[in-house]
Amino acid sequence: MSAQSVPDPQSLVRPLVEKLHAYVPGEQPKIKGLIKLNTNENPYPPSPKVMEAVKAAVDGRLRLYPNPTADSVRERLARLHQCGLDNIIVGNGSDELLALATRAFVEPAGSRKNPRAVVQFFTPSYSLYPVLASIHGAQPHAVALGQDFGLPERTQKNWINNAGLTFVTTPNAPSGRGYSTAELEALCRSHEGVIVLDEAYVDFARENAMSLALKYPHVLVARTFSKAYSLCFQRVGYLVGHPILIAALHKIRDSYNVNGLGQVAAATTLTDLPYYRANFKRVIATRQRLSDELTQLGFQIAPSQTNFIFVKPPGLRAETWLQRLRDQKVLVRWFKHPEISDFLRVTIGTDAEADALIRATRKILAR
Ligand SMILES: *Cc1c(COP(=O)(O)O)cnc(C)c1O
Repeated sequence: MSAQSVPDPQSLVRPLVEKLHAYVPGEQPKIKGLIKLNTNENPYPPSPKVMEAVKAAVDGRLRLYPNPTADSVRERLARLHQCGLDNIIVGNGSDELLALATRAFVEPAGSRKNPRAVVQFFTPSYSLYPVLASIHGAQPHAVALGQDFGLPERTQKNWINNAGLTFVTTPNAPSGRGYSTAELEALCRSHEGVIVLDEAYVDFARENAMSLALKYPHVLVARTFSKAYSLCFQRVGYLVGHPILIAALHKIRDSYNVNGLGQVAAATTLTDLPYYRANFKRVIATRQRLSDELTQLGFQIAPSQTNFIFVKPPGLRAETWLQRLRDQKVLVRWFKHPEISDFLRVTIGTDAEADALIRATRKILAR
């Protein structure tokens, strides 16, 4: 009687979830002395003010719920971007907001012919987008980038003008290629569905497209404190856009989606921007030097406007380079997708880390 009635746990999981190919984050290995250039973390710590503010916030208040709408963060962001509080939603990292946008603007499944059920994105770009579509039961729709990872011609017949949601990583990851505000505006103008301009790396670029989120009702700009502001650990990101789209996202988020210490860290970050701007300059200078030195060693490198470079290594296969570098305790990222499997993505670290990478590279080449 008893054993027979126990359900098979696998049968309890929705078929969609059972079949899902989950997002694969970069490794966070605990190897002593490892030079970690695989997940685009900032090599410099948060500002001393942020460290102090977070430490000072660790007291009896931990028993209380945090502010549900991250007001201290939104108020400072509104001043920074010259917009209203109702133009901003803060999330548990920008990843959460990309998922919320999928749930708010895209119909699950329905027919393949229904553009409102489509999540559109360029390839290569952030590999989370197709996963978000699949989790939601929507249709992922990939459109190939053009030559040198540029935006394709607008006349491209593969493009769905009224897709429920379109993600554009700008500057692009993993290529590092930047796009001008003018060409992004041209793309947005001729488009009808919601577009998220995912500006995770924009602080390392020449231009940003924040103005488009405040000009066009169907354009949202996503930003994160993770990469440029050294706060991956705290998980804080935000979206800027039209109050009606922003209100829709607020409606479906968790009541306390941004943790209290994260709110303290992000709000304090915004009081010390010169500290971070100095770091952007250092990262950009190291990016230039590392690009020049690797080019001399025979690497092909796409010009980068991010805190990483996308390189085609000489001689050996990229996957072999990944392993040989790892053997020397330098960890970079390799993607097992046919269209980019000849490349390695290398996060820009400190100058000392760049030197270690060059030394390891010379040793591999000398063999
Ligand atoms: C890192 C990254 C994100 C996610 O940032 P979090 O705020 O840490 O969730 C979003 N988009 C792109 C393109 C990224 O590289």
